[in-house]
Amino acid sequence: MNIHEYQAKAVLSEFGVPVPRGHAAFSVDDAVKAAQELGTPVVVVKAQIHAGGRGKAGGVKVVRSLDDVRSESKRILGSVLVTKQTGPKGKQVNRLYIEEGSTIDRELYLAALIDRATSRMSFVVSTEGGMDIEEVAHNTPDKIVTVSVDPVTGICPHHVRRIAQALHLTGDLQKQMSPLLTGLYKAFTEKDMSLLEINPLIVTKDDRIICLDAKIGFDDNALFRHPDIMALRDLTEEDEKEIEASKYDLNYVALDGTIGCMVNGAGLAMATMDIIKLYGEEPANFLDVGGGATTEKVAAAFKIITSDPKVKGILVNIFGGIMKCDIIAEGVVAAVRDVGLRVPLVVRLEGTNVELGKEIIAKSNLNVTSADDLDDAAQKIVKAVKEAA
Ligand code: ADP
Ligand code: MG
Repeated sequence: MNIHEYQAKAVLSEFGVPVPRGHAAFSVDDAVKAAQELGTPVVVVKAQIHAGGRGKAGGVKVVRSLDDVRSESKRILGSVLVTKQTGPKGKQVNRLYIEEGSTIDRELYLAALIDRATSRMSFVVSTEGGMDIEEVAHNTPDKIVTVSVDPVTGICPHHVRRIAQALHLTGDLQKQMSPLLTGLYKAFTEKDMSLLEINPLIVTKDDRIICLDAKIGFDDNALFRHPDIMALRDLTEEDEKEIEASKYDLNYVALDGTIGCMVNGAGLAMATMDIIKLYGEEPANFLDVGGGATTEKVAAAFKIITSDPKVKGILVNIFGGIMKCDIIAEGVVAAVRDVGLRVPLVVRLEGTNVELGKEIIAKSNLNVTSADDLDDAAQKIVKAVKEAA
């Protein structure tokens, strides 16, 4: 789960991490009031969406008067921002953050993430802050330094020294890095974050180190431990179909292709997506209905797939183990009765109660093509989609 910048900064400041003062605003009047309350000569109006690259897209404006706060807030609030991270459709701005302006001497990059290779939390830092870090990683990989932290020791003085050195911070600036890194590490581990990105981390003209931007992603599987974080969820930022899927505890990820997939088991789902690509089409989603799915759950999954206008064909690929083929068949039949079927459907069932499953589908008189194996199924659905196009 992701949260907004202003929420991330509030979480970090609970851990003593220095961030600029600011107030969230949901209307233009709120924004002006927030700027008045800050009372600083320079104020920054920042669009709050779950995507970076806002600055370049016109979603971050440094202003010097309340009139400008009003006009910039009016322009940004309600507009659709298209940034490098939103995709071409962009994201509508429904919230603003009004923040005190900082005088920037240098912009640095600092991120914390789980490094699966070392099974540790790592800090990734660079002197090239404020820029597109992917570009830095591609063009000048030597400017990115990774420091992994042993969970047994936590942050030690040598971590601080290495990171400060990599960022060319000495003297008092190096000293400031010690509580900052300790706070970030504590926030990351205690709140079960999966990603924490500060871009830029700045050195101000009066030699203070501040987190000027903050992006946080949390481990969904640990959210039950953090009702305070869960309360920060902004459903308007999430894919509607993914929200619906999460209600039924389905593992669903929306993708850009044309073939909707309903599969049990993440491995089989990956294989199904691969083989669809092999035969020349793209999957519209990843969907694992899991092991012990009920008819209702299967029907809900099927409806989520059919409600996607991008879907031009559906492939149901089930290997019945704990999951029984007749349950899948009943779920599919129930969903089609409810919402109809406007695209070709190929079903491949194998395993527990396969005969019963096939019988349920045959008796339903639905327009279903059955398939015998993975190859056969993928070829049939790709052919059907191509023919219909
Ligand atoms: P994004 O990464 O989405 O573009 P940032 O929060 O990183 O958004 O802001 C983009 C740039 O705007 C920063 O790199 C910085 O130069 C400037 N900026 C952001 N917040 C402030 C602030 N409070 N004071 C001064 N400049 C700011
Ligand atoms: Mg940024």
